[in-house]
Amino acid sequence: MKCSDYQLCIYEFLENELKKEDRKLLFSHLGECEACRDYFSAAALLNSTIVEDKNLFPESLDEEIFSKLPKEKSFTFASFFTVKIPAYLAYTLVAIVILLSLTLLNEVNKYRNELLQTSAQLKEQSKTIELLYNCLPPVEVHPVKNTNL
Ligand SMILES: [Zn+2]
Repeated sequence: MKCSDYQLCIYEFLENELKKEDRKLLFSHLGECEACRDYFSAAALLNSTIVEDKNLFPESLDEEIFSKLPKEKSFTFASFFTVKIPAYLAYTLVAIVILLSLTLLNEVNKYRNELLQTSAQLKEQSKTIELLYNCLPPVEVHPVKNTNL
């Protein structure tokens, strides 16, 4: 094994996850290698600091903090329709929509009547033009002798 492998073993040892056979190998290597001994002492110091810090803050603190956080509201399409608005506002909106639709319906009826009137006038004019055209006397063409030639 290389030194880097032993350094990984050091972390496993500090977490109490190293097997007994590997412990023997690790400690025999630590007896020979000064770099890994230094690494071991640094890692042990770091590990003890982390453990102490964990003890400073009880685990219940996390739960308490998370319970105090406001619940995240997720916007869904259904929540759009369940938005609570005051009743008078809802009735006013409905009244406005009804008034607008009645006004639009009235306008549409007005335009339809105008269109029908214009169409009727157009048909009448067309008949009048046809009558006038048929009333004109037929055109007669008379040849003219040109005697000057
Ligand atoms: Zn080493």
